[in-house]
Amino acid sequence: MAVVSPRLLLFFCLSSWIVIWRAPSGDAWGKEGHIMVCKIAELYLTEKTAEEVRDLLPETAGGDLSTVCPWADEVRFRYRWSSPLHFVNTPGVCNYKYSRDCHNPHGEKGMCAVGAINNYTEQLLDIKDPSNHYNLTESLMFLAHFVGDIHQPLHAGFAADLGGNTIVVHWYKRKSNLHHVWDVEIIDTAMHEFYSDDLDSMVEGIRLNITGEWSTEVDKWKTCSNKRATCANDYAIESTHLACKYAYKDAEQDSTLEGNTDEYFFTRLPVVKKRIAQAGLRLALILNRIFDGEKSREIQSI
Ligand SMILES: [Zn+2]
Repeated sequence: MAVVSPRLLLFFCLSSWIVIWRAPSGDAWGKEGHIMVCKIAELYLTEKTAEEVRDLLPETAGGDLSTVCPWADEVRFRYRWSSPLHFVNTPGVCNYKYSRDCHNPHGEKGMCAVGAINNYTEQLLDIKDPSNHYNLTESLMFLAHFVGDIHQPLHAGFAADLGGNTIVVHWYKRKSNLHHVWDVEIIDTAMHEFYSDDLDSMVEGIRLNITGEWSTEVDKWKTCSNKRATCANDYAIESTHLACKYAYKDAEQDSTLEGNTDEYFFTRLPVVKKRIAQAGLRLALILNRIFDGEKSREIQSI
């Protein structure tokens, strides 16, 4: 994992950086996706971690991490420098490589979602260091958001189509783009069809899958041999594979992705739900390691 240079750390804090950059227009997982990831994470925080997280949250959060998880999308145009931190891109290949792919449009190394996750984790790990002058509330809000983003397969898609943003598709009666389908449409359609438009019911459905159908896989999701940095690099590699295997597959420019068959929806929804589950669980693991080191290998059983 790359070591983040002091220069880069400074760069992360510059809010007035002007970047001429064609940013993907998508929201990253839409608001709902990010809230769901963080609601799942909250289920797995140790008591000590939950307390430390609550202490760092802004007043407006009312002590609930999930309310601030979409925040990074709201500031991406005010903090122009943060825009490339929401994703990684590959040069049209199905394998992501940090040394080749983690940079911003100016070629600054580490300026991608993987670099950002590791950077904000480092900042939070140094919470007790008196020389730590970072705004750790923002570090926490960025971290919680980017762990969500890196699990959305098209946040690790191809540079040429901006992670599916330029691929126009039709989703039932709407015109959309492939990136937006994965950020928002699949989740919205599922919430509407199966969960009475209720976000908490969908979160509960995903939670039941974690303790049921996916329970034998969960140990593997948790595996991370990286001691200091996170395993965000592995999560990006997974996402790129999923982008090729599921997102881009059968999704041609100007195609009707979903009309009558529901096939794309039904075959991709399990992937979306599992990525939300993995993101939530792994965010909890990262936060537990930061704030409750002794229990770094554990997740609260639910
Ligand atoms: Zn984002």
